[in-house]
Amino acid sequence: MKTFTISEINECRNHISTTLAREYDKPLYDAFFKKIRVYSVASDKIVLVADGALSKTILEQKYARELEDRFYDLTMTRFTVAFIQESQISEATEEQNDLAQYGDFFKGSFVDPNYTFDNFVVGQNNQEAQKASLIVAETPGNIFQTLFIYGGSGLGKTHLLNAIGNYIKNSNPEKKILYTSSQDFINEYLDFVNGDSKKEQLIKFLKRFDVFLIDDIQMLKDKKKTQEFFFNIYEDFRQNHKQVVLTSDRLPGELDGIDTRLITRFTSGLSVPVMKPDSHTCREILEKKLISGGYDVSNYDEEVLIFLSEKFKDSVRNLEGALVRLNFYASLNKYERITLDVCADALRGMVDVSDAKNKVTEQKILNVVADYYSLSVAQITGKMKTGNIANARHIAIYLIRDMLDVPFKKIGSIFNGRDHSTVMHSVEIVEKMLKNDSQAKLVVEELKKRILS
Ligand code: ADP
Ligand code: MG
Repeated sequence: MKTFTISEINECRNHISTTLAREYDKPLYDAFFKKIRVYSVASDKIVLVADGALSKTILEQKYARELEDRFYDLTMTRFTVAFIQESQISEATEEQNDLAQYGDFFKGSFVDPNYTFDNFVVGQNNQEAQKASLIVAETPGNIFQTLFIYGGSGLGKTHLLNAIGNYIKNSNPEKKILYTSSQDFINEYLDFVNGDSKKEQLIKFLKRFDVFLIDDIQMLKDKKKTQEFFFNIYEDFRQNHKQVVLTSDRLPGELDGIDTRLITRFTSGLSVPVMKPDSHTCREILEKKLISGGYDVSNYDEEVLIFLSEKFKDSVRNLEGALVRLNFYASLNKYERITLDVCADALRGMVDVSDAKNKVTEQKILNVVADYYSLSVAQITGKMKTGNIANARHIAIYLIRDMLDVPFKKIGSIFNGRDHSTVMHSVEIVEKMLKNDSQAKLVVEELKKRILS
């Protein structure tokens, strides 16, 4: 006998609803049928949700039989139709009850609500992966039935996988989503598959899902039996046009110790990379993490932000680790202002902060700016205003002020005895440019990077 997934029954429900809307008067239809949704489906029973006590009673007494017939017409299966009231269920019990009837599997696996598209920063390094994930989340099982996200550790694969899960939960609540790490999948398989009946139960459990999100598939390496089991489930998903999303630390073709049948299928899906973020994206991630952690970005010196986003480009996970340590250290010592000194002390042993810190001097800034604009330091500090010179000078003044917090007066003395207000004026010009001119912003970022490297 065919077992039906909740999404199939839900499709039937949509179909029945359209028919009923045609056949019944609008007020009647609106009052009782319109809001019905599917709560659960077992081999012989469909439970529907009624929006209130009155609808529940009326539906049970007057329309249950009719609905059973209509489900029969579509499924050729005699289901009993029962009702529960919307207010009787909370989301948590709903999921648990629903799963419990199929066995006690994957207890520790769930979609992490903290990883969403909203808090995922998109940059050049991950825009393809983010876009593909979003498409999948919007059209599960429809466009890219297999999505394969690959890339190095700490670059956002698990985040995206969960974001897909969270998105579907909101937009398509009837879809059953299983998120699991490959390690949990292996453990489940080993723990529960002692006898065939258990195995059947596990298969049944897995097949009920509409969306299968499986993390770090490279872990199945050399696990022949688990791979075979996974293959069968995966084939079932493919045949039923359900969504599978996998992550891996490398491209499908580069996986070793994985059955070629699986690799062929992964390859035929859409593969998208997540790469290392550039410092600009890293900076954005950093700020987002601070804000979401309840920290005030303005308490962090610009150098600290630049330094961290330069130093931890290789892994966003390490960047987060550094932030946790830094913030912990700062709160322990009651530092309000997070300077490069504080950062250096907090991350001692983790990275060489003092190195970067010592290097930043007025001279270094002048050298870097001069080099960037192919000018001499003397031209930058001098009086000429032709060509690029004035612009380079404004920027050098701005950088000295911004990165070293040197008084205007002292800056003036470096620049050929210019007075306080002239220096201030340069700083203002650059600040304005940074607001309105994205090209100028990039230039300043690049210069800061060079100064700190
Ligand atoms: P992976 O699975 O690729 O090893 P994760 O998805 O676990 O990496 O990411 C590690 C950490 O970095 C997570 O806390 C995640 O939220 C964060 N992270 C990675 N990329 C981004 C991004 N683009 N925007 C926001 N956070 C990110
Ligand atoms: Mg991961």
